[in-house]
Amino acid sequence: MPIPTRLSLAVAGLVLLSAPSVANAQDRPADRRRFLLPSSQTTDDPRRVLVGNAPRGPDGSIVLTGGRVFDGTGAPARELTVVIERNKITRLVPPGPANWPTGARVIDVKGMTVLPGLIDLHTHLTDGQIATIPPALVNDMADGMLRGIERMRFYIESGITTVRDVGSLDGIFRLKAWVGEHRATGPRVFAAGRLITGPGGHSAEGLGSDPDQAIFRIASGADDWRKAVREQFDRGADFIKITSHFSRDEVRAGIEEAHALGLLVTCDCETFYIDWAVDAGVDMIEHPLPRTDEVIQRMAAKGVASIPTLVPYQYIFDDDGGYFGSTSRRFTFGKEANLDVLRRLKTAGVTLGVGTDLVTDWYRRLPAPYLTELKNLVSVGLTVPEVLGLATKTNAVLLDMDDKLGTLEPGKLADVLVVRGTPDTNLDDLTRVEWVIRDGEVVVQGGIAVLPSRTRTGAAPAKRY
Ligand SMILES: [Zn+2]
Repeated sequence: MPIPTRLSLAVAGLVLLSAPSVANAQDRPADRRRFLLPSSQTTDDPRRVLVGNAPRGPDGSIVLTGGRVFDGTGAPARELTVVIERNKITRLVPPGPANWPTGARVIDVKGMTVLPGLIDLHTHLTDGQIATIPPALVNDMADGMLRGIERMRFYIESGITTVRDVGSLDGIFRLKAWVGEHRATGPRVFAAGRLITGPGGHSAEGLGSDPDQAIFRIASGADDWRKAVREQFDRGADFIKITSHFSRDEVRAGIEEAHALGLLVTCDCETFYIDWAVDAGVDMIEHPLPRTDEVIQRMAAKGVASIPTLVPYQYIFDDDGGYFGSTSRRFTFGKEANLDVLRRLKTAGVTLGVGTDLVTDWYRRLPAPYLTELKNLVSVGLTVPEVLGLATKTNAVLLDMDDKLGTLEPGKLADVLVVRGTPDTNLDDLTRVEWVIRDGEVVVQGGIAVLPSRTRTGAAPAKRY
């Protein structure tokens, strides 16, 4: 969808409505990367840490022939052959005889559509709110890692090749590393680490003000909010997640610190807290919680995006008849009210992303929840190709990864989904997953997750004796 975000406005060189508040801050991609030569290789995450120039990805190459390609750029689906070398897409060529790389694995995808891997911007991979988990193990790191491993399979088999984890146990960064090294099967993980909130903040109600609370970092006062942001950065955060409650000073300090470190900030908040977060320069707002038309207009004008996540609330309303007992949800809301917020966001031209927030055991319903969320977006007037564009290209922009992910173009990382049918005309076909390739490696075959057996170049852990 061609609605400019703050990031794309910056790339286009237009005047930012929210200028960086720190001289030489790194809150725009152009700022963060100004000292990087285009030839430099960096980590494939928003931190963009320099790495050596050794070849990356698996040694082989893969060619997908005979399929329709929906490349995510806005172009209509058409017959093309996709060539993947190591972990990158290198060519998209018209069907016919071609010079494949020697020894390429050629996969016939006739009757199927090839599209960019889907992205889910709102997960909690280590979440422990499942009835079968003993209370004593909810915050247990080992159990949390196993929960993450189990969940990742559901995501990858649904064609979701990237997730953004917006609040997990500290071990989330090890899950990210294991997937990155192809030692575990799953989607790419971009993680916030712990979510930062004030005492009594959302989801942390009743936990008191001790700063360390498993998936929470309870912060008090502007300086402590800065410290909390730096702690997540130090652990490896790819972005920062904050939730109400906070003061104006706290949210301003947290966002300023994150931007200075080159990290985007997303906020789970409601009513006037949205106003304060938008004033402070937040990059996006999670959930469909109540807000004024005035702040929706300001979100649109400042390029503050929205990740509406309607589907988890639909499950809550169905299961519990409403949302009760939360001091950060002190308003009446329901399915229609949430859809109304989404409609108003869409009408105002706010950039929309796709996330599902599948806590408890809802991940076991995948791929249905992801499809339901896409259909929610269709229900407010977006076309199916536009919605697929949000799930891929726009979601990559909101991750600050659109130069490496989100479309099928030469030079992009090879995260590719192959489904039977034509999901760009019949959205339900999106669930007919056949192949998934992530980082140049086949990770789903015949709809079932597989663990690559090859040793990957450059992926071996450093030896320590
Ligand atoms: Zn959440």
